[in-house]
Amino acid sequence: MSANVNLDFDAVVVGGGISGCTTALHLARGGMRVAVLEAGSLCRAASNANSGTLSMQIKRAALVPYSMRSWELWKTAPQWLGRDVGFTVQGGLTLAYDDEEAEMLEIRMGERRDAGAPIEFIGLERAQEIEPGLSGHARLIAYCPMDAFSDTLVIGHAYRAALAADGVAIHEASPVAGIERDGDGFAVATGESVIRTRRVVLAGGVWLGRMLAWFGHDVPVECGVDMVSVTENMPPIMRTVIGAASGLLTIKQKANGSVLIGGGWKGIGNIDMGGVEVIPGNLIGNLRLAHYTIPRLAEARVIRAWLGMDANMPDFMPLVGPVPGAEGAFVIGCIRGGYTIGPYMGWLLAERILGREPEMPLFDMSRYVSD
Ligand SMILES: Cc1cc2nc3c(=O)[nH]c(=O)nc-3n(C[C@H](O)[C@H](O)[C@H](O)COP(=O)(O)OP(=O)(O)OC[C@H]3O[C@@H](n4cnc5c(N)ncnc54)[C@H](O)[C@@H]3O)c2cc1C
Repeated sequence: MSANVNLDFDAVVVGGGISGCTTALHLARGGMRVAVLEAGSLCRAASNANSGTLSMQIKRAALVPYSMRSWELWKTAPQWLGRDVGFTVQGGLTLAYDDEEAEMLEIRMGERRDAGAPIEFIGLERAQEIEPGLSGHARLIAYCPMDAFSDTLVIGHAYRAALAADGVAIHEASPVAGIERDGDGFAVATGESVIRTRRVVLAGGVWLGRMLAWFGHDVPVECGVDMVSVTENMPPIMRTVIGAASGLLTIKQKANGSVLIGGGWKGIGNIDMGGVEVIPGNLIGNLRLAHYTIPRLAEARVIRAWLGMDANMPDFMPLVGPVPGAEGAFVIGCIRGGYTIGPYMGWLLAERILGREPEMPLFDMSRYVSD
């Protein structure tokens, strides 16, 4: 690397999605000089493409306690993030449509309830009182009054303002090409410059595998290319956050009347190209399931469908903590439901980096590293 050294930081965060931005914010508030280096714009990758659901029902049981704490952070965003981010609690229903799904729903929701989520099973009549727009097809219905959503369109603006107010140096359109050990810190190469820092935080979403390779680690970060679509603005047709036991559906109606439809239906793409092509049959399948659930969606016109890339580990558990064998390097990502949980995970990791004991365990990546 060239010796064009121009800046010194206590911590450089590589990747400005919700994971990296939250970590950076809390490091700065803990007294560190911090920079965020983002290849594109803040919160424009998965942290923008996602459908904004903040659901306790669609989190793995082990992550429910983290989700519950993060929910509180979403609720109090105006205090710690500085603005309202469209946090809306409507309660959520998860629907099983056949016996197999009902069995799965019973087991999974039982585990999540045991982990602390206030989930109950309710009959169709009660479900239709809560959600008058609901069809009568469901065999089993789970309800959680905490389920919510927030506005993914404003989150990047909110973090940019908060980071700037706390003195974080924000470098957008600054892809990092590599990181090397430099004395007791690191040299971070971006374009033509090199930034020196005591610590680095890798927060690269689906690109985390490549970032960890800079440290000699071959970690199997998987990339899912998932679809979301949105209808034109409609009169009120529903008032809850709806999901399916199959995991193939999320629906919610925003304050402007548009209905967001997701559920992890796949599109075509990869980490080099991005999400490039919606698969028509998958879009139709997603919309059919949505319409089967909320019949008034028959009146809706879909105005846009898009793809986002979601990072996962094979065990579906996050990577949050130190990078093995690289004192001063940390990783955060692969958090299933990372939009919901990102604010809390970022705070936990910042606590660890600041030398404090995080109030809940981190997710050690050494389970994927043999050294
Ligand atoms: C379609 C879709 C729907 C989803 N729906 C939900 C949902 O409803 N609820 C929920 O809780 N979760 C949802 N998720 C998951 C959630 O969006 C993600 O877990 C979360 O946003 C990940 O945040 P992140 O900061 O780790 O990654 P990202 O937001 O992807 O941020 C990583 C950043 O790293 C940057 N980067 C990469 N390489 C470099 C480099 N070399 N140099 C500098 N910067 C770099 C990227 O540009 C990017 O901005 C969904 C995901 C998708 C894709």
